[in-house]
Order: sequence, then structure tokens, then C-alpha cells
Amino acid sequence: MNASTASFTPPRDRRGRSLHDLRISVTDRCNFRCTYCMPKEVFNSDYVFLERSRLLTFEEIERLVRVFVDLGVVKLRLTGGEPLLRRHLDNLVERLAQIPEIEDICLTTNGSLLTGETAARLAEAGLDRITISLDGLDNEVFQRLSDVQRPVDEVLEAIDHASAAGLGPVKINMVVKRGANEDQILPMAEHFRGTGHILRFIEYMDVGNANDWKLDAVVPAEEVLQIIDGQWPIEPAEPNYPGEVARRWRYRDGQGEIGVIASVTRPFCGGCHRARLSADGMLYTCLFASDGHDLKSLLRSGADDPALKRDLIRLWTDRGDQYSELRTEATSKIKKVEMSYIGG
Ligand code: SAM
Ligand code: SF4
Ligand code: SF4
Repeated sequence: MNASTASFTPPRDRRGRSLHDLRISVTDRCNFRCTYCMPKEVFNSDYVFLERSRLLTFEEIERLVRVFVDLGVVKLRLTGGEPLLRRHLDNLVERLAQIPEIEDICLTTNGSLLTGETAARLAEAGLDRITISLDGLDNEVFQRLSDVQRPVDEVLEAIDHASAAGLGPVKINMVVKRGANEDQILPMAEHFRGTGHILRFIEYMDVGNANDWKLDAVVPAEEVLQIIDGQWPIEPAEPNYPGEVARRWRYRDGQGEIGVIASVTRPFCGGCHRARLSADGMLYTCLFASDGHDLKSLLRSGADDPALKRDLIRLWTDRGDQYSELRTEATSKIKKVEMSYIGG
């Protein structure tokens, strides 16, 4: 514990929630164009991505994380965009892993750039775990959803690399979208059963505005669970920790577990202990936010750590976010920041 935290009570927001988890977007760019995240019609050559000079440096990220730790953050997730597009990401991991209060550092990636060497370097730098996104095993379905001409095998190899580097259990994120990849639910479950990897089914969300989200494109987690239970019976498992986003289920025949993230049909705002830092240093207290708070300007204007801390405490204690509990098709049209920018 820091001297400064010894007598410090971590702040709670207006709903009594504390801050444990910081998601850090290291880039808003991606080499995929997943239709539910960065559809090509919007993220094309006219789209203005962040310029390099606007990105937080690794030093700046480390400094901010050290202040966040004082507020109670113990868990970090590096994300984007595609975080492995950011060069020397292992250097950032190494810096963050040296912060004693940080218990867990994870990375979410599409896997396309995760070679065996990269995985080993990240593990050596102090990364704890990796989540890899994969929406189907069929090449055609995968390529239609990710909108790139790359083979599924590349992602499967990345999963093997992560596992071999000791970055497991590897979690596999599958966004299920009506009419796009429901037929991949059982093949994906079959493929990952018994491997030790944890497949998680994610309800399609109305993050940002680019994906033109419709409620009827959401496949409710209950439906996914029924499909799987019909083939391989499952039973609920206890959460690993309070406020866990994914609900856990285990196969009754002992072949491991799956998770469902039901942000639309079973919102979990009441236990939301997360904040998000964009690659250009804006802080967001909800994934569905319209506006953020400019930490980079504060940082670059010479604010010292106590000033940054005061600012963060004020922001967090002011927080009342509960978007998913209020969601309707109409709220989905409100201007919101994009997932690729704010970090998944
Ligand atoms: N590029 C990396 C990846 O795809 O893993 C990290 C960033 S991505 C924004 C993080 C996660 O958000 C991925 O698992 C992705 O499938 C998920 N995601 C993106 N858009 C989504 C949406 N509209 N609804 C639900 N999940 C979404
Ligand atoms: Fe890129 Fe990840 Fe978004 Fe797909 S989900 S477009 S891989 S940032
Ligand atoms: Fe947290 Fe916002 Fe999601 Fe609710 S909608 S769980 S407050 S990120």
C-alpha cells in the first residue's frame, strides 16, 4: 500500500460502486472491420483516426495508472482498436506490471498479430492473461463478420500461442449476431469444450452509432444457453468474484466451462466497477458514454499527482451511469463514442 492510500477510503460513485478495473485503449485503429464494431461504410479512408501525437505515451499511461491505483484500481485490461498494432506493447506491460498494487493485467486482441514470439514477450513482460475474439469457425462466416480475408486458422494458432506462453486460461469472445453467426454456436462450443479455454458468448450491443444496432439482431444469452444445454447439459457455476461481467456455466460432463455476457437482456450496471481510458487520454465511466473527461490535457498542462487524484475522485463520486438498465431502441440512437475508440 502507498503511504498516500494508508488512511484513504476509496471513493464510491452515486450508486455506491467502487472503482477496481481500468480498461486502457492503446489505439483506435484496427486491421479488422468487424461489422458490429467498425463497419467499412463508416471506418473507411475518410475516417479520421487519432494522430500519433495525440496518443498517450507509455510513460503517461503508467503515471495515470499509478494515480488510479490510489483510487482502488487493481485490474487492468489493454484493448483498443487492435492493441497489438501499438508497437512495443510489451514495454507498456512491463511498466504496468511493476506497479505493486496491480493484481491482474489482461489483453483483448483479435489474435491476428499474436505470434508465438509476441505472446512469449508479453508473458515475460508480466501480462497475466489474454482474451481472443473469434466469432465462428467457418471461414466464410468469420470473414463476413470481420470483413477481412484472413483464415480462422490464424486465430486458432494465436490461441495456441497464448496458451503455450502461459497466458491462460485463454478466454474466447464470440459476439453472437442474429442472422450472422448463430449457426456457429454449437461448432464453437464443440471445438473449445475440453480444451481448458473458456468460450464466452457476448450479446450484440449498441456501442457507438456506426453499427446501426437493432434490438432484433440481439441473440439473448438465454437462447444461446438453451442451444448448448440441448446438446451438452450445463449447470450454473459461482462467479469468480463479485461483479464479474460474464455469468459462468459448466458442462455437466466435466468438459470445462462457458460464459455469457448478457449486457442487453440482463444488465449488470449495479456491479460495474470499470472505467475506460481512451488512447488519447479521455476518461469514460461507461461504455455507452457520449462524453469523456480530458485527462491528457490536465496531465500535459503540468498537473501533479494530487491534482489528478482530486479530479478523478470528483469524477468517480459524481458517476451515476446505468445505461444498460435504461436501454431502448431509442436510446441506442443517442450519440455515443465508438467501441474501437473507447476500448472494449
Ligand atoms: N480488437 C480487439 C478484439 O477484437 O478483441 C480488442 C478490442 S474489441 C472492441 C473488444 C471486444 O469487443 C471484442 O471481443 C469484440 O468482439 C467486442 N465487441 C465489439 N463490438 C461489439 C458490439 N457491438 N457488441 C458486443 N461486443 C462487441
Ligand atoms: Fe477491430 Fe476488435 Fe472492433 Fe473487430 S471488434 S473491428 S477486431 S476492434
Ligand atoms: Fe457499466 Fe455502463 Fe455497462 Fe452499465 S452500461 S455495466 S454502467 S459500462
